[in-house]
Amino acid sequence: MKTNEISINELINNNGIELSVLDDHEIGDNHLFTSIETPLRKGAFDLSDAEKIQKIEQHFREIMSTLGLDLNDDSLKGTPKRVAKMYVEEIFSGLNPYNKPCVALFENKYKYDQMLVEKNISFYSNCEHHFVPIIGKAHLAYISSGKVIGLSKLNRIVNYFAKRPQVQERLTIQIANELKRVLETDDIAVIIDAKHLCVSSRGIKDDTSSTVTSYYGGKFLLPETKKEFLSYLGFNFV
Ligand SMILES: [Zn+2]
Repeated sequence: MKTNEISINELINNNGIELSVLDDHEIGDNHLFTSIETPLRKGAFDLSDAEKIQKIEQHFREIMSTLGLDLNDDSLKGTPKRVAKMYVEEIFSGLNPYNKPCVALFENKYKYDQMLVEKNISFYSNCEHHFVPIIGKAHLAYISSGKVIGLSKLNRIVNYFAKRPQVQERLTIQIANELKRVLETDDIAVIIDAKHLCVSSRGIKDDTSSTVTSYYGGKFLLPETKKEFLSYLGFNFV
């Protein structure tokens, strides 16, 4: 395998980011991130899912109560449990490596050696700075190294990494690194176009902007290959 995972240092150097001069508040508002790996504490999975749900339920009840809500109200009393289950079993289920999709590769019997593009993969994630949704589409491409992947597995890989507290840059790189690993090639591309509710529903309250991030590896760094990929997504160049 000849894959080259990009490192945080490379990324920071390439972007000229100076993390040390930013305080916590600035990091949040600037949507920077400190690691390509999702930062997990030691023993992150020592508790079972059921134990986590129980703990989060208690804490969320406390948050609601602190906000002044009456937890005896029929409409509210089930909310702490509902939120806890949703966190652990759905929207943050991608934190647990146990939930990582198993990807089987198939022999490329048709000898298809051209670009394969899977576009408009919808995903829902959550911003790790505000815990509100990121809603977007991912466009993936690869050129087979001799093996091919089931198409739905591409969607599953996107969704696994999306179901974590995220920043879009990290999501893009985590998907790119996983594609390189499972497809055993550097010839992959990832574009993510997403709307951040922390930008549209609060703060600057911009409802029309979206954020685009991209990663090109191997042959996709060649202008012709990149251009072909972008043309399938509807970007045309003279
Ligand atoms: Zn945010």
